[in-house]
Amino acid sequence: MDKNGLITLWKDFAERSDYFKLNPEKDFVSLLAEGVLTNEKNKGFRNCPCRLSDGSYEKNVDLLCPCNFKSQANWAEKGRCWCGLFFRK
Ligand code: SF4
Repeated sequence: MDKNGLITLWKDFAERSDYFKLNPEKDFVSLLAEGVLTNEKNKGFRNCPCRLSDGSYEKNVDLLCPCNFKSQANWAEKGRCWCGLFFRK
């Protein structure tokens, strides 16, 4: 999948939700998509672009993007995922 494909996937994911949306800053979203795709190339899975993993898929499945961000303290406190890719509506 290329960057535009990943961004389209994120848009579709957010459009199906009643309570979160994709960050409207296109350049920022593009940067995060590049980070995820670089992680996929280097590690073999779509690791969150702003959190470190130890390189093991099994131990870091919770870091796959999109993650279960609604369970994060950051979501409760700031209404956004850790990286700011998704925001509460
Ligand atoms: S914190 Fe945001 S950018 Fe990071 S994996 Fe979760 S949804 Fe993706």
